[in-house]
Amino acid sequence: MDSKQFKEAATSAIDEIVSYYDTIHTRRVVSNVEPGYLKKLLPAGPPEDGEPWAKIQKDIESKIMPGLTHWQSPNFMAFFPASSSFPGMLGELYSAAFTAPSFNWICSPAITELETIVLDWLAKLLNLPDCYLSTSHGGGVIQGSASEAIVVAMVAARDKYLRETTSHLSGIELEDAIAYKRSKMVAVGSDASHSSTQKAAQIAGIRYRSIAVTKETNFALTGAALAKALDQFKAEGLEPFYLTTTLGTTSTCAVDDFESIASTLAKYAPPDVPGEIWVHVDAAYAGAALVCPEYHHLTAPFKHFHSFDMNMHKWLLTNFDASCLYVKKRKDLIDALSIMPSYLRNEFSESGLVTDYRDWQIPLGRRFRSLKIWFVLRTYGVKGLQAHIRKTIKLGETFAGLLETRKDLFEIVTGPSFALTVFTIVPKVPGSEAQDKVTKDVYETVNKRGEIYITSSVVGGVYVIRVVSANPLAEEKYIRKAFKILVETTEELRDGKLPRDQPSNGVIVDVKGVGIEKVAA
Ligand code: PLP
Repeated sequence: MDSKQFKEAATSAIDEIVSYYDTIHTRRVVSNVEPGYLKKLLPAGPPEDGEPWAKIQKDIESKIMPGLTHWQSPNFMAFFPASSSFPGMLGELYSAAFTAPSFNWICSPAITELETIVLDWLAKLLNLPDCYLSTSHGGGVIQGSASEAIVVAMVAARDKYLRETTSHLSGIELEDAIAYKRSKMVAVGSDASHSSTQKAAQIAGIRYRSIAVTKETNFALTGAALAKALDQFKAEGLEPFYLTTTLGTTSTCAVDDFESIASTLAKYAPPDVPGEIWVHVDAAYAGAALVCPEYHHLTAPFKHFHSFDMNMHKWLLTNFDASCLYVKKRKDLIDALSIMPSYLRNEFSESGLVTDYRDWQIPLGRRFRSLKIWFVLRTYGVKGLQAHIRKTIKLGETFAGLLETRKDLFEIVTGPSFALTVFTIVPKVPGSEAQDKVTKDVYETVNKRGEIYITSSVVGGVYVIRVVSANPLAEEKYIRKAFKILVETTEELRDGKLPRDQPSNGVIVDVKGVGIEKVAA
């Protein structure tokens, strides 16, 4: 493909992408292909002779689209969103064009320097304490995901703890002490922490323990629960060295009680004293809300903690991947992750005046991800980002308000919190088994029909449905449509009312009822 052919192909691709976005609401949101569908559609190997772009492009609609679940559809209300925006896509396009892995500063100074600058912009926007800025002892780095950020933080915490608690030893005594401590060290989260903390402990070869959280604290971890767990770990001879706290848990968007956690740790493992417990704030999704001043009060206790991570690619209009990890002391990361073989040596790295982001992450190579963040921050501006967050939070309130109008059908368990509402279906005959069954039936039927896509979870032993209204294309008419579908499906399954008309061609049609706008092809 020469540059002329590229221009034609790219123009045609952009046209198709724009049309995809303009009509995305008309597609069945969740794919219903059978496992292995694609193998049947593709040849056994690549073509012997190269094919023209027009022929390749045709296969997007015919072969790939049927197997896509449309995360950008306004009918996608599952998980948390994976946001996308046109400025974000332009950042991806330039990044692909430059393809200049910037593991060392000299590999592309602009890539390193833009990352430092935009992450400082973002830290200020999120109201993170100054200690997380690059102008202090900390700084930010873009990781691929919140899970990766947790692995990085945990490995840094592990090495820091071992270094600090064995600094008086050397030789075989040091080796023995490290081996013994590793067998006793424990990484801690809560029942509501994302599974990535447990996975990180598995990767780091460390024990993992979770602390139970309950409805009484709205499924948030508190200092009191942490104190009790720390006492228990001590009694068992374990050495806690790392804790994940969460701003916006996956199941319910609970916010851990950062103030009381900081107070507990001040007593049990005081900060800045060797052997302290590294506290990571996992704000993967809800951290985006910190762009709004009304949430800034949440960040004050972070000065007592060690790292913070927020995915711009979840709720902040930036294409996957853009997980923004901040550490209070960059030296902790570098001490754990730096390695200097001769082929990576250069005068700039040795001068100590530059940042080499390879020392802040697991891989060596890295993509130019700060470009899309820069484009997004500049295109929307602070006000645009705040408007997006506030609009989608309000849609969550609208949805919860609709549920409240049908207390005979729905019971809210938590929320609306950060655009997430968690609820159950009210069973015809009271009882927890009947409640779980009807909730599961409604959830599965709605997703099978594919007009909207929602997720379920189990919270405090109860089967629940989660609806998230934070998609970039979310609008009230789609929220109302989701409510209507939930009402009708519940009445059908629970009360034996006639089934709703179902779309036959993947196109979402209007359904009988008030307040629902027609959404057609
Ligand atoms: N932490 C929380 C609170 C999450 O909700 C999620 C995913 O939704 C993750 C971590 C993992 O995110 P990632 O896919 O970026 O690893």
